[in-house]
Amino acid sequence: MSVAVQIMDAIRHGKGNASKKDIQEATGIAWGTMCKGVDALLGGGYVFARREKAQGRGRPVIPLCVNSDAAYYVGLDIGAGFTRTVVCNLAFNTIYMNEVETPHYHGKEPFMAFLFDTVDTALRESRIERERLDGIGISVSGNVDFEDGVIVSGRNFGLPWNENVPVAAVLGDRYGVGVYAVTTQAAAPAAEYHFGTMAGCRNLLTLGFGVGIGSGVVSEGQLLISRPGRPVGHIGHMLISDNKRVCVCGFRGCLEAYSGGNSLVQVAHERFPARTDFTDARAIDLAAGAGDADARSILDTAAVYNAAGIASMIQLYVPDAIIFGGGQCREDGYLYRRTLEEIRNILPRERLENIKVSITTLGKYQSALGAARLAYEKFFGETK
Ligand SMILES: [Zn+2]
Repeated sequence: MSVAVQIMDAIRHGKGNASKKDIQEATGIAWGTMCKGVDALLGGGYVFARREKAQGRGRPVIPLCVNSDAAYYVGLDIGAGFTRTVVCNLAFNTIYMNEVETPHYHGKEPFMAFLFDTVDTALRESRIERERLDGIGISVSGNVDFEDGVIVSGRNFGLPWNENVPVAAVLGDRYGVGVYAVTTQAAAPAAEYHFGTMAGCRNLLTLGFGVGIGSGVVSEGQLLISRPGRPVGHIGHMLISDNKRVCVCGFRGCLEAYSGGNSLVQVAHERFPARTDFTDARAIDLAAGAGDADARSILDTAAVYNAAGIASMIQLYVPDAIIFGGGQCREDGYLYRRTLEEIRNILPRERLENIKVSITTLGKYQSALGAARLAYEKFFGETK
């Protein structure tokens, strides 16, 4: 992260009371460099100093505050079912949030028209001045070339492999700001690392159980970002012994091919064709919670598979915290509870005791918030 972003974070965390000494302690940036950075931010109007009377002898402490209205960021999360939008101010308070259904992909033009409409609506309804918009972040349930800002594919909403939609270039032209696009696998952990209950935890694993199954990793404070065709830290396509099902990626036996929301419904229809009430993953989960034996047999298998995937992720990345999210994760949900039980059957107790496990408190706007944050890191750092 740039010096400017590190200083801004320290000032934001100080909640209006951060002195230069606090900033240096928090960031470890050399004093001279830090002072120059603070001066540049003061000069640009991104932070301001609260003048306070000297207490006793010595120089007065001057607390610094973020000027929250100085810049805004739009975060867009294009998911399989819904597209969620947030607008954040410079203090990273969310001043606008909205969700609409993601339309099935029918070509670049209607897709871009949908994105224009979504961003236009966010800018209009949040009433921010256009010149204060500093960047747009996009999170996509799919493959994204983050260096060129191109969506390579998004199969869950019908965007085929190698369609290569240049979202950063097209949106950048229209709105006159930098646009940064990543896969949801990066946006979700970015949000948790900066804004979640385990913010600052340097080894963090996020798990998203919804239509697809995703994961994200912060390892030693570094966010892992997948490239198209080169996914890193991706639980959904881990191979699970005994799983015979063919995945959308073409492999046989991926976790997502069994436990993804749509896959669970397919499994239910194949095994129990008479059960027309198993319409979606939630219906199956609720039935299982109420004691339904058919639903339980499906989800018990899913829980074993989920746990195998999660245990492997724990072996690979040794997280200190695991944050669950996605439509399939509810504190009292049958599959969620059974998955945790199966994890306990695999891991030695002392390994699990050191990992904090929870469901995200950021809710369904987690990835939109992460996308806004990543755009801020990229563009605030470049220009200030
Ligand atoms: Zn797969």
